[in-house]
Amino acid sequence: MKTGNYVKKLYIGGQWVDAAGQQTLPVINPSTGAIFDHVARGSQEDINDAIAAARGALQGAWGQTTALQRGRWLTQLGQKILENLGTLTELEAKDTGKPLATARNDVTVLARYFEFYGTAADKVHGEVIPFERDYAVTLMREPLGITAHIIPWNYPAQMIGRSVAPALAMGNATILKPAEDTCLSALFVASLAQQVGLPDGAFNVVTGLGEEVGAALASHPEIDFISFTGSNEVGTAIQKACAHRPVKCVLELGGKSPQIVFEDVNADRAIPIIARAIVQNAGQTCTAGSRLLVQKSIYEDFVARLAEVFKKLQAGSYDMDLDCGPLMNQKQLQRVENYIQQAKDAGIPVIAQGRIHPEAPKSGFYVAPIMFGPVPTQDPLALEEVFGPVLSVMAFEDEADAIRIANATDYGLVAGVWTENGARQQRVARAVRAGQIFINAYGAGGGVELPFGGTKRSGHGREKGLLALEEVSSPKTVVHYFGE
Ligand code: NAD
Repeated sequence: MKTGNYVKKLYIGGQWVDAAGQQTLPVINPSTGAIFDHVARGSQEDINDAIAAARGALQGAWGQTTALQRGRWLTQLGQKILENLGTLTELEAKDTGKPLATARNDVTVLARYFEFYGTAADKVHGEVIPFERDYAVTLMREPLGITAHIIPWNYPAQMIGRSVAPALAMGNATILKPAEDTCLSALFVASLAQQVGLPDGAFNVVTGLGEEVGAALASHPEIDFISFTGSNEVGTAIQKACAHRPVKCVLELGGKSPQIVFEDVNADRAIPIIARAIVQNAGQTCTAGSRLLVQKSIYEDFVARLAEVFKKLQAGSYDMDLDCGPLMNQKQLQRVENYIQQAKDAGIPVIAQGRIHPEAPKSGFYVAPIMFGPVPTQDPLALEEVFGPVLSVMAFEDEADAIRIANATDYGLVAGVWTENGARQQRVARAVRAGQIFINAYGAGGGVELPFGGTKRSGHGREKGLLALEEVSSPKTVVHYFGE
């Protein structure tokens, strides 16, 4: 498919402009490894321009809007996204390698974010706080100012809505820095924002390298807030940059999420969901259910049944629409292959492996889904985020043992608990440290309504749901004495 001319530009202050340095970066199709377009390679100068545009928006039309009007723009943008569902789906699938059905779901979720926060914008109420006699105290919520949004390559479309929509709903002026591998959906959404008449400078997109535009944005003295989703390494650097001023940030980082299967599991329900939770997006999902903990009494039987499903899983190019697509890039492929090789070298048994479809282009970045076990609880495969379709299976004795293993990583993003025992469901949900716990389920589609974020090294702050609106706004307490 052909992409529009705007693709090689930056969207700043409502205008499509060339990068100040006139340089571009290649866009690679992970399904074939071939270059199919170029995007602008922004720099510090472009970030300065985006900041000036955002400041202008806050001082101008955008700063004067009512919550109702902001909400209408966002809702219209959500509708525009749905009107362009086919085009955006194909763009996203080709850019990321994910199967068309997955990309279609992602774009639908992107639209839902704008709908959710669009309809929430004028329902953010303040509070009246009881205080001393002859005082009226109100608490209101105000925008933070200029907000920066640095997002990763694994769910580019969803991440735009998740990070930017609540900030716009609260009246902030936003600057989005998509990952250098996957800029196309962000640029397309900017073109739709322009069509619905979102005031100039409210939403800016600057493409480019993380260490160039990402770092310039994160350290800019005029930024009031950073929403960062990505690796722990870069997240730590972002927090350090914030500490110098200091500026608030929300960090959504990695995960090594456990799925805990007790002997009274409803296996018919659990098995397909557990398989999907690790192959979805080729395992490049922060919430991937990458550690499977199975009670010893059912280990052999349950793992054998899951292995039957695993053997049938197939990876292929985005337009083959199989269980998973390729990995994002050559670096990611190398990383995942290294983990697989190290596990084999360490003598960890392969329980089952799917396949790369024979018609998938040989030059694409494919890995066949694979299941290892039993994995020693101290092995890197049990502790580190692989970010590929690699499942680590472990056995546990009893509830206390399961909780101990589940909590034995640095991460704390999501967990799944599989049991029919109601009291156990509650006990385990409370004892496992994670920002989101699923009981007899895993993943909730887009889950736009459900607050999401990490504990431990998986980050801090919350996105999604109404809680996100609190993150991107500042409470103001107004104390009014009305006595004599
Ligand atoms: P990454 O940290 O390499 O990049 C993320 C973003 O940061 C990109 O836009 C990149 O250009 C930018 N960046 C890179 N270096 C930078 C710097 N020095 N200063 C400022 N910005 C910089 O992450 P990735 O490889 O794109 O994504 C994979 C990681 O993201 C995984 O660890 C995954 O678990 C995590 N992730 C977390 C969530 C979540 O919600 N918790 C969601 C998706 C992905």
